[in-house]
Amino acid sequence: MNQEPADAARAPRLLRHYINGEFVASATTFADVSPVDGTLVAQVCEADAAAVDQAVRAARAAQLAGWRDTTPAQRADWLHRIADGIQARFDEFVAAEVADTGRPLTQARTLDVARGIANFRTFADLIRTANSEFFETHTPDGSEYINYVRRKPLGVIGIISPWNLPLLLFTWKVAPALAMGNCVVAKPSEETPASATLLAEVMHDVGLPPGVFNLIHGHGPNAAGEFLTRHPDISAITFTGESRTGSTIMKTVADGVKEISFELGGKNAAVVFADADFDAAVEGVVKSSFTNAGQVCLCSERVYVERPIFDRFVAALKARTEMLCVGAPDDPATTMGPLISRGHREKVLSYFRLAVEEGATVVTGGGVPQFGDARDEGAFVQPTIWTGLPDTARCVTEEIFGPVCHIAPFDTEDEVIHRVNDSAYGLAASIWTTQLARGHRVAKQIETGIVWINAWFVRDLRTPFGGAKLSGIGREGGRHSLDFYSELTNVCVRVA
Ligand code: NAD
Repeated sequence: MNQEPADAARAPRLLRHYINGEFVASATTFADVSPVDGTLVAQVCEADAAAVDQAVRAARAAQLAGWRDTTPAQRADWLHRIADGIQARFDEFVAAEVADTGRPLTQARTLDVARGIANFRTFADLIRTANSEFFETHTPDGSEYINYVRRKPLGVIGIISPWNLPLLLFTWKVAPALAMGNCVVAKPSEETPASATLLAEVMHDVGLPPGVFNLIHGHGPNAAGEFLTRHPDISAITFTGESRTGSTIMKTVADGVKEISFELGGKNAAVVFADADFDAAVEGVVKSSFTNAGQVCLCSERVYVERPIFDRFVAALKARTEMLCVGAPDDPATTMGPLISRGHREKVLSYFRLAVEEGATVVTGGGVPQFGDARDEGAFVQPTIWTGLPDTARCVTEEIFGPVCHIAPFDTEDEVIHRVNDSAYGLAASIWTTQLARGHRVAKQIETGIVWINAWFVRDLRTPFGGAKLSGIGREGGRHSLDFYSELTNVCVRVA
C-alpha cells in the first residue's frame, strides 16, 4: 500500500550507502538520535560484509577503469566541482551537521562546513602544483645518473572517521585520497552519518565516475568498520578516532602489511607563563578547553599556570567559563552545545565523579544543567574546571573528551616542560608567553606533533598534522597527505 503524504512526511529519513554510483539500502538499520533532545534524526543503513565487499570491488574497478590515469589537473577540477557542490547546498550541510551533533549553528557554518569546502579546494590546488624530488648521482667510475620520483596512486583507500568534527575530518581524508588518484571506501561515525550522506549526493550530482567514491554506514567492531579494515583489497587505511581503536585496527591490518595513517587521542596541555598577555591567555584557554564542548582532539584538558598568577588565573577562567551559554543550536545566545550522545555523557560524568574521589576541588561545573524543557532529554553537561589533583590522577592522565580542564601551578620552565611531556599522548600543546625566545625554546622541547604559541586551533592545511606517542602514526596535511596517499617510485636513469 502507498503511504499517505502525511505519513510519508512523518516517516524518518533513511540514510543509505552509496556504492558504485548508486544509493543502496540494507535490511538492517539503526537509529541516529539528536543529542539535543533525544529525538530521532534518521534511520541509518548498517552495511554487512557483503555490502563492504561490493564497495571495495566497485572502488577497485573504478580505479582500473581509468580514475588512476586521470591527470592531476583533471582531478583538481573534480575536487573544485565537489567543493562548489557543497557550497551550493551549504545550508543543508549546516543543518545535517547540527542535527547530528547539536553544535551551535555558527560553529557549523564557520568551522565544519567551511572547512569541508576548504579541504577540497586546498588539495585541488596542491595537486595541481605538486612537484617531486630530483637528484643527480655521480659514481666513482665517472658515470652520471638522474633520479626522479613518481607519485602513483596507492589504489583503494579505506577511510574511517569519528563523530566530533564529522564533515571536516571526513573530507580531510577523502579530498587528498581522490586528489592523488585513489578510489575510496569511506565510513563516517555511526553517530554522525548525515553530512557524509549529503556529500555522497554531491559526488553523484557532479557526476563523479561510479565507484570512485563509495560510502558505507555502520558500526566499528565486528561490523562495517572492521569489515573494511579486514578487506584484502584495501591498499591503505586512514583512521581518526580513539587510540584504543587505532591499536585494534593496527592488529587487523598487520597480516596484510597495509599502509596506515592514524590521528588518535590526546591529553593536551596549555602552559601559561606569568609574563603572558593575561586576558589573551584566559580567552585562549576558554577556547582550547570548551570549544565543541571539549570534543576536539586538540582541546586542552591539562592547564599549567605559573604560580605568581595562578590564583588570579583560576578566578578569571572560572568567571569567563561561567559566561558560556549551554543550550540548543538554534538559540543565537548558545556558545556550547551538548555532548554527542547519552553514552558519551555517561563516560564524561564518570570522570566528573572520579575527579571528586581523586580529591579535586571543583572550581565550576561538575554536573548536568537543568533546563526544564526538552533539552533535559539531551546529552548536556556543564563546562567544568578542577584544581588540586596530582599529575598522576586518572583525570589528569586519561583523555576525557568533554568540556573539562584541570589547572595546576608550576614554578620553573624545566619543570613544566617535564610535566607536559610526562604523558602517554603527544598530540598538541599551547604556550602562552610574551617572551619570544622562551616560546621557541619551550616549543622545541615539547613532545607533540603540534605546538601553538599564543594561539590555539589555527590550522594552515599545508602544514603537517598528527601526533606522537599514543596520539598517532604519520602526518597528514599539505605534501604529507600527498605522500601518504601515493606510492613513491624512484626512477634512476644512467645519462652519461
Ligand atoms: P572511535 O575510535 O570510537 O570511532 C572512530 C571510528 O572508528 C568510527 O567510525 C567507528 O565506527 C570506527 N571503529 C570503531 N571500532 C572499530 C574497529 N574495531 N574497526 C574499525 N573501525 C572501528 O572514536 P570516536 O569516539 O568516534 O572519536 C573520538 C576520538 O577520536 C577521541 O579519542 C579523539 O581524540 C579522537 N580524535 C582524534 C583526532 C586527531 O586528529 N588526532 C581528531 C578527532 C578525534
